[in-house]
Amino acid sequence: MSIETDVVIIGAGPAGLFQVFELGLLDIRAHVVDSLPKVGGQCGELYPEKPIYDIPAYPVIGAQELVDRLMEQIEPFEPQFHLGQAVTELKRKEDNRFKLVTSTGTEFDTATVIIAAGLGAFQPRKLRAKDAADYEGKHIHYKITQADKLAGKDILILGGGDSALDWTLELYDKVNSMTLVHRRKEYRAAPASVTKMKSLAEQGLLREFHGMVREVLADDGQFRGLRVADDQGEMHDLNCDEVYAFWGLSPNLGPVAEWGLDIDKRQVNVDTEKFETNEAGIFAVGDINTYPGKKKLILSGFHEAALAAFGVQKYLDPDKRVFLQYTTTSPIMHKRLGVE
Ligand code: FAD
Repeated sequence: MSIETDVVIIGAGPAGLFQVFELGLLDIRAHVVDSLPKVGGQCGELYPEKPIYDIPAYPVIGAQELVDRLMEQIEPFEPQFHLGQAVTELKRKEDNRFKLVTSTGTEFDTATVIIAAGLGAFQPRKLRAKDAADYEGKHIHYKITQADKLAGKDILILGGGDSALDWTLELYDKVNSMTLVHRRKEYRAAPASVTKMKSLAEQGLLREFHGMVREVLADDGQFRGLRVADDQGEMHDLNCDEVYAFWGLSPNLGPVAEWGLDIDKRQVNVDTEKFETNEAGIFAVGDINTYPGKKKLILSGFHEAALAAFGVQKYLDPDKRVFLQYTTTSPIMHKRLGVE
């Protein structure tokens, strides 16, 4: 069963969120898909605590606060979010509409698509050591799905952020042995978690180790653990059954590159009138697009979203004459915004 709609927005970063607003003003509702489990794109994932100084009318606003404000602003237009799933397939159908499928199998039948995919879908930073890929999903993992199956095992957790520390604290007394490996002495995780981990390490209930992963250890293809260099360059073999790396997420253009769009240096070429790509009905806004003079700023994404909305409107209903209406004075805008 596919979800029938006028618009699917790929990406819930600031551009994708504001796109919902601009479409809403034109009475067009949207579904929004993001590979992350939460909205906000780079603002929410990479720098939620940092202040931004170049959002119009906000001398300063925290990145997460900006996301929260955008969510508040788009509320009247009731966007439907499909989070934690990447759009993996996008194809034009015979009837000229688009089939769009996500990594969890959600399928859309949509008239238009707006790609607001930023730098790409966020994916776990992976272990680059030789042969690591051969053991991915078998002994080297980037998420924990069945924690109860780890009882009795020797576990290595890599990382110094909240995910690494939270799982270390959650699992240390449920497994045979727990080692936390972090490359630096300083942690990014919540100080209370770090204090608790250090106290457990002092009591010998888990092991804290500082170093860089150098090699995957295996005997005749049988996974054995990781070889880690300490800060003096001395090698240590850390034997274990399973490794969980929590090194954060990094964006990857991924499937966007496979949809037959005109791409220049990992960005999608668009016109600057409607922000439409070389494929009629597929638009691109925010960091993902490029055109002469493009600047990768939130501000640019907002402007592009406004014009793309008019482009979508025209594509959906070419004969309808649409007049620009001010939100200040237009009764139609007030009705759509629910502020009558
Ligand atoms: P993004 O924020 O990248 O969001 C794109 C979303 O699309 C992501 O959530 C991603 O998961 C999702 N996605 C991608 N591919 C898929 C797929 N196939 N399926 C489903 N979802 C997908 N800009 C400023 O204007 N001012 C600043 O002060 C500023 N400071 C910054 C500081 C830092 C540290 C960084 C890293 C950036 C900063 N920027 C700043 C840049 C700003 O964050 C970006 O311009 C902005 O986030 C772009 O918004 P976007 O919505 O286009 O993309």
